[in-house]
Amino acid sequence: MEELQNTEPTSAALTYRAYAKINLSLEVLGKRPDGYHNLATVMQTIGLYDQLHIAPAPDLEFDCNLPDLVEENNLVWRAAIQLFDKLPAHNKMGANIVLEKAIPVAGGLGGGSSDAASTLLALNDLWDLSLSQDELVEEAARLGSDVPFFIYGGTMLAEGRGEELSQLPPLKPAWVVLLNPGLEMPFDKTSQLYQALCRSDYSDGSITLQLVKSLQSAKHPSQSLLFNAFERAAYERFPQLDQFRGAMVEAGADYVRLSGSGPTLFTLLDDEMEASQIATKLQANGLQAFAVKTV
Ligand code: C5P
Repeated sequence: MEELQNTEPTSAALTYRAYAKINLSLEVLGKRPDGYHNLATVMQTIGLYDQLHIAPAPDLEFDCNLPDLVEENNLVWRAAIQLFDKLPAHNKMGANIVLEKAIPVAGGLGGGSSDAASTLLALNDLWDLSLSQDELVEEAARLGSDVPFFIYGGTMLAEGRGEELSQLPPLKPAWVVLLNPGLEMPFDKTSQLYQALCRSDYSDGSITLQLVKSLQSAKHPSQSLLFNAFERAAYERFPQLDQFRGAMVEAGADYVRLSGSGPTLFTLLDDEMEASQIATKLQANGLQAFAVKTV
């Protein structure tokens, strides 16, 4: 991998937004023979985003404002290599890719997966590959279970290991207050949390089905439908999370949910003012909080 000396994007760069997501519901149905778990989850993109600056270049080059992320296993790099391999041998092209991170890393907000999906979309354009949306989704699924969702974004039901997607009517615009606890996470956090699930954390998908019905009738989802199968395991594995949940309640959140496998916590509101007041109170206590709209 060629590293750049300067993370400033070149003037010829096009900028793509890679939005974060929350899981409105996240049910784990059970473990599969291939080691993955079957899911029923409603995913929703939100207005917190990384930026991917992409420009033509003779070689493939990647840099990031967080230098630790510049490594061969980074999903952006892997996505770029995957599409590079699709270019005909007589017409190999390069790209200068600069990733500007704003989404907390390993936070349960799908940042890495979203960056990967944006890389596929951007290079498909830059290299005139003309891959269809279905082909891009196929490439995305090879990179990770959450990546296909970010080819579309919006509000979607995800099943299978996360790659079987159905479009849902968009959520009525809502505000999300996020709190990133900033806890140190093991590199294989997601995998560890899946392993920590027990039978009683599994469910049959009926909460998600009810949530889907409620979204189809354009209702604001009731908090009883915002379920996350990882909550027990995450609070047990990271007991400090409880203090952060307390801080959100203290700041005015009616309820607090985990996003994905965590550790980011969120609450959903339909009032912008209320959301920004909660985020401001958390920030005044030195916590990393954001108030963002659904996208
Ligand atoms: O697909 P991805 O590489 O993002 O998954 C990371 C890890 O999370 C997998 O290796 C697997 O342990 C776990 N996983 C799972 N079931 C899923 C998605 C992920 O067990 N549906």
